[in-house]
Formats: sequence, structure tokens, C-alpha cells
Amino acid sequence: MTAITADALGRTALRMPKALLWPAFFLALGWATALYTEEVPKVIRGLLIYLPYAIALVGAVIGWRFNRSRLVFSLIAVSLGHWMLTGPASSIKSGTSGELGYLTFALLFPIGLLVLSLLKERGLLTRHGMIRAAIFASLAAMVLALAAADHWLAKGLATDIQRAAAKLLSTPMVPNRWIPRTVIPEPAIAVFILVTAYFFVRLILLGNPPTESGALGGLLAGGMALHFVGDVEAVSVFFTASAGSMLMAAIQDSYRLAFVDELTGLPARRALMMETMTLGPRYSIAMLDVDHFKKFNDTYGHDIGDQVLRMVASRMERVSGGGKPFRYGGEEFTVVFPGKTADEALPHLDTLRQNIADSGFVIRSKDRPKKKTAQKKNGGGKKVSVTISIGVSERSDKHSTPEAVTKAADEALYRAKGAGRNRCSK
Ligand code: GH3
Ligand code: MG
Ligand code: MG
Repeated sequence: MTAITADALGRTALRMPKALLWPAFFLALGWATALYTEEVPKVIRGLLIYLPYAIALVGAVIGWRFNRSRLVFSLIAVSLGHWMLTGPASSIKSGTSGELGYLTFALLFPIGLLVLSLLKERGLLTRHGMIRAAIFASLAAMVLALAAADHWLAKGLATDIQRAAAKLLSTPMVPNRWIPRTVIPEPAIAVFILVTAYFFVRLILLGNPPTESGALGGLLAGGMALHFVGDVEAVSVFFTASAGSMLMAAIQDSYRLAFVDELTGLPARRALMMETMTLGPRYSIAMLDVDHFKKFNDTYGHDIGDQVLRMVASRMERVSGGGKPFRYGGEEFTVVFPGKTADEALPHLDTLRQNIADSGFVIRSKDRPKKKTAQKKNGGGKKVSVTISIGVSERSDKHSTPEAVTKAADEALYRAKGAGRNRCSK
């Protein structure tokens, strides 16, 4: 478990705009299309009403194949909402079943996304997945039953129940002038605001995982659909944006799983392979290896070893000279310098090496005091030095493929180790 530091939180907060790019894109696209639906050709407008289902279907298949029950359930919720707001609740007249369906959905949609985010992912076709499906199905059945109360309850009774429930669900909560003009009932607005805040906090605490930003985009686009009820095309557009945001997040997350190293956050081996395919006629590749890392692990434990790897990675992220850092595997890293010879790359590598050697690493005892002041009194833990050795090689007639250059860099690294470590070799 890594300690959450103010510094790390600050950094993830700074990176948040980037994480919110896709959700913002879908919202803006939805907004623009909703404003200019008149301009959209009629054929496309006719298809618009099927678009949320199409995206939801694609997403659900992906979610099923990759065992992402959260995505599947979110998309079912979006489809249900779209069906409701373009069908029974397409115009919400007070005292009708459509109104009640609308109100219930407006309240349950944000709550559903919140619950899905809180529950641990346990797969779809598992016992937990089935329990989740059962809860979800009963909620959906409730919304549908309420919306269709006319058909199965005596007319008078249905109207009474609908009136009472609608009144409860749209209870005013704050003075009128505080509310922007919208048909979304105040209790639902309150829930939307709370869940939006929850997702923001979660984004910061968890380092902007795509699933959360996707859910946030899905939530807000769903809110817009609720706001535009009555305008069937706008509703379709915003539910499309909602489903699109969630689907895009799932794709991004799969990309992250494949190409980003979990421990250090650096691009992983696969990303390195992709990078080497794009290299031109001139480039150099450096191999980095932590010195005496085995001893480090043996002395302080594997967890401290992992922290050292994170520290090294964070310095590597700031390598100069246009170098691109990767985690090669274990305690070995790679920096690729497109367009640079080994001689041109060397000063940047040596600066990196020096940076890491200067950083040092503070080992805190396991029973470290909670308060910082007390910790300082104890000396704040033991400072040990961490060094790396680097070997670099460039593309040449002798080494004409990335594999050959990497191998030559590995040999140079071996020489750096032999010459006493904490140095660069060519
Ligand atoms: P040298 O200076 O020659 O590189 O010595 P070394 O001890 O670093 O070299 P060696 O390759 O023998 O040791 C690598 C060690 O790195 C072995 C393994 O326990 C450790 N290691 C590999 N991956 C990880 C990891 O993800 N986390 C941790 N904590 N240790 C790792
Ligand atoms: Mg090694
Ligand atoms: Mg090593």
C-alpha cells in the first residue's frame, strides 16, 4: 500500500483535465448536436433514436467478454432511460405514469452509477455478478412497473399512487430562485450534485482511472438527457453521449491494462515494442538497471523494493533530451531517444543517473509514528542511496534493428556494471 501524499494528490488533480477530455468531448458533442438537430439530415435524425442502443450493445458485448459487469449494468441503465424518455415518459404530464417513470429514473440513475462504482468488480457470470444482476433487475422492474401502473392497477388507484409518489419525488428543497429552470426534480438534482462530487473526489484519490471519468461523463450526459425530456432527438443524442463516454472509458482502461505498467505507471514493454516500430533511421536506446537491487529487496523487503522502483520511474519521467521512458521488466528500464545518436543521448542519461543517485531513499520503519513531528524527532527513518547503471547504443550499420540496438545497449550496461556501477557506458 502506498501512502497517499499531498504531493501525489496535487499531481493527480493537475492531470484531471486530461482525464476528463473524453467525457467533456461527448458532452460538448451532445450539446452541439442537440442545439442544431434541425441541421442534421433527416435520415440521420431517424437513426438517432437507435444510436444509444447500438453503442450500449457494443459496450455490453465488450463488457461481457472482458468481465466488466459495471459497464454492462451502466449501459443497461442508459438503454432503459432512453427507452423511457423516448417512450412512456417522452412528455411528462403531471399525474401520469410517464411522469412517475421519469421521476424514478431521474433519482435511481445517479444512485445506480454510484453503487456500481462502490461495489468491487467481481465479474459478470459469477455469483456476485448474478446477485448484482438480481438487484439491478428488481430496480429496473420497479421503474417499469411504476411507469406502467395504469395497465395493471385499477385506474383510480393507479392515479392516486402515481400522484402521491410523484409529489414525494419532486419535493422542493430549496428556494425557487436557486434552481436553474429545469424539469428535473429537486431531490434528483441534489443526488446528481452529490454523485458528481463523489466522482470528482474519487478521481483525485484514485489517480484519474478512466472508469471513473467515463462514469462521470455518463452521469452528466444522462442528466442532460433528463433536462431535455420532450425533445426526443436531444434525449437520444445525450444518451448516446452517455453510453459513448462509458464505452470509451472501458476501451481506454483496456489500453491502460495492456500498455501501462501497473507498479510504476510508466509505459510497459508492449508500448516499447510499439514505439520501436515508429523509429526512423536514427535513434538510440538505453538500458537502465538498478544496482544491487537484490540486496535491497533482501534487506528491506519486497514492498520497499517496489517503492524504489516507483522513485526511479518518477525520475525517469522527467528525463531530458526527448527521451521516452519505459519499464522493460523487473528492475530494468529503457529510454528511447528518437533522432538522437548515443553521444547526443549520453549527457541526458548521465543527468538522469545523477538525479537518481542524489535523490536517495528514506526507509521508514514499519511502526512509524502517525504524526510527522514525532517522526522528525526520530530522525524520519534511514536514508539509503539508490543508484543505477546505464548502457546506451545507437542504430548503425552493425546494429540495424531495434532488437540489435537493445542487445548492444545491454552489453554496454554489462560493461557499466563491470566498471563499478552508478555510471553510463556506450
Ligand atoms: P546488479 O547491480 O548486478 O544489477 O545487481 P542486482 O541485485 O540488481 O541484479 P539482479 O538482476 O540479480 O537482481 C534483480 C532483482 O530484482 C531480483 C528480483 O528479486 C528483483 N525484482 C525484479 N522485479 C521486481 C519487482 O517488481 N519488485 C521488486 N521489489 N523486486 C523486483
Ligand atoms: Mg537486472
Ligand atoms: Mg540490478
